[in-house]
Amino acid sequence: MKNLKDYSKQELIELKKELQKEYDAFKAKGLKLDMSRGKPATDQLDLSNGMFSSVNKADYDNHIFNHPIDYRNYGALTGIEELRDIFAEMLEVPAENIIVCGNSSLNLMFDYVTQCMISGSDGMHPWINEKEVKFLCPSPGYDRHFAIAQYYGIKMVTIPMTGKGPDMDAVEEAVKDPAVKGMFCVPKYSNPTGETYSAETVERIAALKTSAKDFRIIWDNAYVIHDLKNESDFLPNIFEVLKKYGNEDMVVEFTSTSKITFPGSGVSCIAASARNIAIIKSRLQFQTIGHDKLNMLRHVIFFRDFEGMRAHMEKHKAILAPKFMAVLDEFHSSLDGLGIAEWTEPNGGYFISLNVLPGTARRVGNLAKEAGVTLTTVGATYPYGIDPKDENIRIAPSFPTVEELKKATKLLCICVKLAAVETLEKEKD
Ligand code: PMP
Repeated sequence: MKNLKDYSKQELIELKKELQKEYDAFKAKGLKLDMSRGKPATDQLDLSNGMFSSVNKADYDNHIFNHPIDYRNYGALTGIEELRDIFAEMLEVPAENIIVCGNSSLNLMFDYVTQCMISGSDGMHPWINEKEVKFLCPSPGYDRHFAIAQYYGIKMVTIPMTGKGPDMDAVEEAVKDPAVKGMFCVPKYSNPTGETYSAETVERIAALKTSAKDFRIIWDNAYVIHDLKNESDFLPNIFEVLKKYGNEDMVVEFTSTSKITFPGSGVSCIAASARNIAIIKSRLQFQTIGHDKLNMLRHVIFFRDFEGMRAHMEKHKAILAPKFMAVLDEFHSSLDGLGIAEWTEPNGGYFISLNVLPGTARRVGNLAKEAGVTLTTVGATYPYGIDPKDENIRIAPSFPTVEELKKATKLLCICVKLAAVETLEKEKD
């Protein structure tokens, strides 16, 4: 297909008329589709219903009564050991470096930043006493990370993503500033670009020489086993690499089963160095007498072991992969060669990141919304909700059906083209 930038003004006017007609026809259908948030679809939730029915009394008795701690009672501040073992295998760290907590990893991250503000990442130097605190925000990134920083008035510094993780030249330069106290990272199947940090990126992160001695990386491994292809992207074990540089305390890792079992009703965990675990534990004892061990137990009985969890992820993959394909196929057939859009084709995770003609993303979002398709709020993938180039759109294909996605993506492509033609036509004036 011909690059739209090579069209004459007259050709653009004619194309705009055609696109407008197609757009109006879609609008008349009264669609009501949501591609805004990375929510698992109902049939994915159904995969874990066995947690209610297959857990029988013998299973409970086995775990509860053959164990020194009665899981029905208070205790086990760091979580039940069977689940710590599963997370340990998932994150490739010793179980003693794991604390299993409640229903949300985002809550743990918020709490971690809160503790850094109030007591300091080392428990001794509260960040709140600093004149200014800054965080590096690889972008496009996860809006809820940015919201945590914004809540605490932490100044966000945008770091471009490269396809192999954050631009490490920019990171290495930025950490020379002692006000830079931390960085958000989603190292595998990043939200929203789907990229996995390369071995070189991980090495350079682990080797960082930061001016702030209490610098911390929020290593949000939310999509660690969320593959869409048969081969999983390789992500080096960050703690192994950190060891080489004596930097084990710099990273605190988080994950959860939100997109394995039930979002918001799963189990979350923290993985960290012995020193960080000790600091976290020393305050955890004041925060709670223990998290929900019976939910932890339900998860253990349902999966049995990490292999069981992996097998479960294959079922998610079977549901999700065709949805990603539906979106990507439509992008290829509608947008290839036009020179107005680029997108990621991730091997896992929950999102596709679409870059449209700069200056048109908000217009695309509004056009789609008016025709009944809700996208993630345009701009949300950047700090302060402002995409400097107004080009990035996060696509969340998980919730709608394949048929709905095909329709919604067809419409989205019309919006992308229409907004581009409007802009290009003006440029010819
Ligand atoms: N981190 C990332 C990168 C996410 O995409 C999400 C969910 N959208 C979360 C954390 C939220 O995790 P939880 O449900 O465990 O709070």
